[in-house]
Amino acid sequence: MTSPTKFSGYADPTLHAEGLYIGGKWHGGGGITVKDPSTGNSLAEVADASVEDAMRAVGAAEAAACGWRATPARQRSEILHRWFQLMTKHGEELATLIALENGKALPDARGEVAYAAEFFRWYGEEAARIPGEYRHTPSGSHHIIVDHEPIGIAVLITPWNFPAAMATRKIGPALAAGCTVILKPASETPLTAYAMARLGEEAGVPAGVVNVLTTNRPAAVTNAMLADPRVRKLSFTGSTLVGRTLLAEAAKSVVSCSMELGGNAPFIVFDDADLEAALDGAMVAKMRNAGEACTAANRFYVQAGIHDAFVAGLTSRMAALKIGPGYDPASQCGPMITPNAVRKIDRLVSDAIAGGARPTTGGKPLAENGYFYPPTVLHNVPQGAAIAKEEIFGPVAPVYRFESEDEAIRLANDTEYGLAAYIYTGDLKRAMRVGKRLETGMLGINRGLMSDPAAPFGGVKQSGLGREGGVTGILEYMEAKYYAVQY
Ligand code: NAD
Repeated sequence: MTSPTKFSGYADPTLHAEGLYIGGKWHGGGGITVKDPSTGNSLAEVADASVEDAMRAVGAAEAAACGWRATPARQRSEILHRWFQLMTKHGEELATLIALENGKALPDARGEVAYAAEFFRWYGEEAARIPGEYRHTPSGSHHIIVDHEPIGIAVLITPWNFPAAMATRKIGPALAAGCTVILKPASETPLTAYAMARLGEEAGVPAGVVNVLTTNRPAAVTNAMLADPRVRKLSFTGSTLVGRTLLAEAAKSVVSCSMELGGNAPFIVFDDADLEAALDGAMVAKMRNAGEACTAANRFYVQAGIHDAFVAGLTSRMAALKIGPGYDPASQCGPMITPNAVRKIDRLVSDAIAGGARPTTGGKPLAENGYFYPPTVLHNVPQGAAIAKEEIFGPVAPVYRFESEDEAIRLANDTEYGLAAYIYTGDLKRAMRVGKRLETGMLGINRGLMSDPAAPFGGVKQSGLGREGGVTGILEYMEAKYYAVQY
């Protein structure tokens, strides 16, 4: 399939924007090249914000802050609902855009748009249900009233792997809480964020409430915003490496941080599992976004009695996937985001093979234009291999054999990460017993997909701090204020 030129891939030119979105106006353009990862061809040039641009965005967010926090919750809720409806109406254009700049296959891109829009619907509902508390003190001395107030201006930094959903998972609760925001999307996938800003304008988001800027200098721009006393919140989704740096930077001004970081999810299959269900779940947990997901199954621990059948079943399913550009409707596995991503996967796979692992399908990058790596299954992987420690972020399934429940738990927990885990077993008692001992923020039981706007998403250990989504997600953007009342 030929690479689309510029925006031939999506129908509605009103969704296209290349400039910074600050204070409800579009500014400048050029400086950052956005590429089609299935060809390496340029798709667009978007603006490259300077520190001064970022300060203007903070100024715009500040100017809009009082009006937005004073806007009745019901009105904030209705704006989020309209934004949800517009994303749904333009779902196909947004999905094509995501497939173009991110490379994921269209069914995954459609799934992302639906998931992303749901955060606006969910937080449209939650905006009208912000909790408070009234209590008596045990001593009887006074009464306790707890109010929740918007925390203030929030800087939102998102990765390229879910260009729509990672943005709405932050913008939704922030706006519902009454905060104004500055979104900095990843430079690889800015077009989706700008398209959503266009829809936000149409939905009635007032000028300055949502500002969007792209930059090739993320550290300088972010550090300047964090040093500004008007900024009170940082919500970051990305790698643990960058997350640690940002936590240190935010500490200088004691900025509140929510961190959604990397993962190294174990996928544990016990002998008593339904094999077909486990294979279906494995394909979802591994191959959503061609493995470029923080929740992606990174290590398959399979009990000895079911191991060989699982490897054979997974191999035939992985080998049958059609590889191609995400925007080709026939594709099931798109390209990786950059040549570097392919090199990293190649390094991890080659290292595992050198240590004794055996590929049953795939195992080498494809010699094609574009950044493709084929679906790969490895077995006999040595436990100490780098592939068991690092995020693969690609379509590679390393399978490890285990004998006992204790061994599976020990291996699963042997990582600095703790975002997601999966268990397949026919025994729910065992699932809950093992689940209690797994160091993870989220656990899929006989299920390969856990993301849901109504559930708290987040990790333990070095996978992050705080939760997005669910009923508590809005509190990440609020401060509790306690009134001690005597009457
Ligand atoms: P990344 O950490 O390289 O970049 C994430 C964002 O941070 C991008 O917008 C980038 O421009 C920006 N950035 C980079 N350096 C920065 C700096 N010094 N200061 C400020 N901003 C900076 O991550 P990535 O490669 O874009 O995304 C993949 C990573 O994201 C994986 O580790 C994945 O697990 C993680 N992720 C986590 C979740 C989650 O919810 N836990 C969800 C999606 C992705």
